[in-house]
Amino acid sequence: MRLLSSTIYAVLDLFYPPHCAVCDHPFGDGQRAFLCDECDAKIERIEQSHVCRCGIPLPDVLDLCPTCAQSERVLEQIRSFGWYEEREDPHHVLSVLIKIFKYGGERALAPLLARYLAEAGEPLRPLTEQITFVPMYYKKERERGFNQAELLARELGRLWGTPVVRALEKVKDTEPQASLPHEARRENIRGAFRLAKFTPCASILIVDDVCTTGATLSECARVLIESGVERVYGLTIARVAQTNIERAEDA
Ligand SMILES: [Zn+2]
Ligand SMILES: [Zn+2]
Repeated sequence: MRLLSSTIYAVLDLFYPPHCAVCDHPFGDGQRAFLCDECDAKIERIEQSHVCRCGIPLPDVLDLCPTCAQSERVLEQIRSFGWYEEREDPHHVLSVLIKIFKYGGERALAPLLARYLAEAGEPLRPLTEQITFVPMYYKKERERGFNQAELLARELGRLWGTPVVRALEKVKDTEPQASLPHEARRENIRGAFRLAKFTPCASILIVDDVCTTGATLSECARVLIESGVERVYGLTIARVAQTNIERAEDA
């Protein structure tokens, strides 16, 4: 294991002399990190002490945000580590990391991002029997070369010692959710997933990189619940701030 990790670092150094992945700040000899301390401190973490079912922090007086209060429960709980910015912003550290990982093909970021997942998902760990991930349409996965959600799920499974299963497959080549207005996302993703060869268990955690409206996680959860899974949880690195949060804060 030691030999393996030193080999990986040697290869990484060859292609990426040690510097911060976001601001390019050079690291000293022997320093092993992807982020400098300054960038790490800039990550907008989500306060986890009192969150809604959908994962957003709530004022103490509320148990549900207005959106969840009006909608049927599909997932028991979603948790996310930090906030995500959909617009290009080179200073938004967590969004830049996720974009480098997902679109830049920087798979070496998976262990760092999985540590963020593990941190935010800690309350879900004792409730999780198996871990799965949001699948990609096979053509898209072939184009990208990997499924970022699967890499994250597998890293998290290693950290937690929890089995990771391919519970779902994507059977519809949908428009990228990020390209659509929020209202259109639920319709776009409807019927996109079906059960893979999978033996239902009591509880499962679905991993994804970013949660925007929760439409993708809900659609995955719906298929799993129909197959007999009793409790479904969701865990993402980041989530997009939305108007329902402001409304929850106003309430
Ligand atoms: Zn930096
Ligand atoms: Zn909510």
